[in-house]
Amino acid sequence: SNELKIAVGAMEIADKVVKDVMTKIEDVFMLPDTTILNAKTVMEIVKMGYTRIPVYQFGDKNNVTDMLFVKDLALLDPDDNFTVKTVCGYHKHPVKFVMNDTPLPNLLEAFKKGEGHLAMVKRLINTDDGHDPSYELVGVVTLEDIVEEILQAE
Ligand code: ATP
Ligand code: ATP
Repeated sequence: SNELKIAVGAMEIADKVVKDVMTKIEDVFMLPDTTILNAKTVMEIVKMGYTRIPVYQFGDKNNVTDMLFVKDLALLDPDDNFTVKTVCGYHKHPVKFVMNDTPLPNLLEAFKKGEGHLAMVKRLINTDDGHDPSYELVGVVTLEDIVEEILQAE
């Protein structure tokens, strides 16, 4: 039955972690905060079809500081030539981060508690010199990715 399949799928996510279901960083549509929101760029962004777009600073894709929601573009006048930075500064959608080895049940709990259903996935970079750990971004994960994993179980 479908109910049984969903129950089995829910059990199977217990053994999986974020990196098993995330969208890899090279496939993530992100924008530099310096992007000018004119008619052309707004059309390109809308065409991509994503609801939420990570925004990075200083040309560094590891430095994601904001989320741009496509719905934020609805009331924009393209002739104003606002930058992504300006629009993000107005809405201030928080960016969530999760480690790549976080178990999916934990991420599901976090998504249930919070209002945001997308997190940036980061990976700890080995530092054998005893200095502060550093991270690199390796993907994005959404509630949809977990639900997909539950529903695809045989
Ligand atoms: P929604 O369905 O809430 O309108 P959406 O279609 O933009 O939003 P989700 O449904 O949450 O996004 O996720 C669908 C898939 O797209 C997931 O695999 C997710 O990892 C991926 N995804 C979400 N945002 C991006 C993005 N900016 N770039 C690339 N992949 C993304
Ligand atoms: P909270 O207590 O709400 O979790 P936090 O200050 O720990 O807040 P998070 O957003 O949860 O911040 O991020 C956790 C970790 O993510 C931080 O310790 C930091 O190392 C890392 N981080 C924060 N901002 C960025 C960023 N722009 N790019 C990459 N890693 C970041």
